[in-house]
Amino acid sequence: MTFLLLDKLETHKQLSFEEWRKLLSELDSPTFDEAQKRAQRLAQEHFGLAIYLRGIVEFTNYCRNECHYCGLQKSHRDLVRYRLSQEEILACCEKGHALGLRTFVLQGGEDPKLSDEWLCQLIRRLTQRFPDSAITLSLGERSQASYAALFAAGARRYLLRHETASHSLYRKLHSPKQSFFARLNCLYNLKALGYQTGVGMLIGPPGQTLEHLAQDFTFIQAFQPEMLGCGPFIPHQATVFAGEKPGSVRLTLYALSLCRLLLPELLLPATTALRTQKASGYLQGILHGCNVIMPNLTPLAAQKHYQLYDGKDATKTLEQSLEELKTEVASLGYHLTCDRGDHPRFVQNNEKRL
Ligand code: SAM
Repeated sequence: MTFLLLDKLETHKQLSFEEWRKLLSELDSPTFDEAQKRAQRLAQEHFGLAIYLRGIVEFTNYCRNECHYCGLQKSHRDLVRYRLSQEEILACCEKGHALGLRTFVLQGGEDPKLSDEWLCQLIRRLTQRFPDSAITLSLGERSQASYAALFAAGARRYLLRHETASHSLYRKLHSPKQSFFARLNCLYNLKALGYQTGVGMLIGPPGQTLEHLAQDFTFIQAFQPEMLGCGPFIPHQATVFAGEKPGSVRLTLYALSLCRLLLPELLLPATTALRTQKASGYLQGILHGCNVIMPNLTPLAAQKHYQLYDGKDATKTLEQSLEELKTEVASLGYHLTCDRGDHPRFVQNNEKRL
């Protein structure tokens, strides 16, 4: 059996749009298993058997946007909205830090009340309290001046999924007020400012074709992100996509393997959405080249209102989740690590086991 496109991808780290389309169409051929084996081997070559932890704090579910797939969209009027105070966020990180976490991801909807001043103060307080830890932001689109101020305050990583690299699909998934080009521009601004930058796409939202996914891979190849979040679309009952089919787990796993083959040093989470769709989602993700898991530090009372999609679990305490994760990854021979887990192009600390 020959795997010419996989060989070319591994050797040159570059495929044409047509080659990506062809490779993606091989989902149900032996190429799927071969990509999995190669992706797992590559992840181990670069990161050993360590799985990095990123503690996520979902600190606001207010959002000005209308992403048609997302349960936080502004027009979801029945949603109970919340915004954690700085003290509450610090307490979440304190708990995570005590349990060994050294990366905190502050995520939220595009909350109009999040001023630069408030965020910079929060970041400074976090970096003072946890000088050994990295602060990642995931707060959507902001101005270049805002990203610069947040960087100056101490944030070093930013996750902003591009969602789709197809302009036409982007238009179908978002309100007319949102701009595909503005989102891409934000990503280039983040990169230019020196952030470790994360992109990512939904797998299987309504209307997505293999051509759209081939556009995603062409974009990722050109952008060269440090991090990438890629999970299946899952419908939310309060959105216009309520009755739609969720994205395929198999296609998500295949896409994850291909991401690893394209960017061997990528920080690639096995996402909560993947876990929601398949109980063994984290393990499957690791087997397909993932090297990051993001336990949730948000208080359970708030977590239950951060429902991006149906079925997102908001019942486990952090201690429970970490214990379960430890056992799960150990069943594959892997271990969780407390290392900050910077991208190898950036500074790296010594690894410590959890
Ligand atoms: N507001 C920030 C932003 O726009 O990047 C971060 C928060 S946003 C809720 C986080 C991610 O959730 C999005 O990038 C999107 O890919 C994912 N998401 C939202 N709705 C989803 C759904 N129905 N199924 C799967 N993932 C979803």
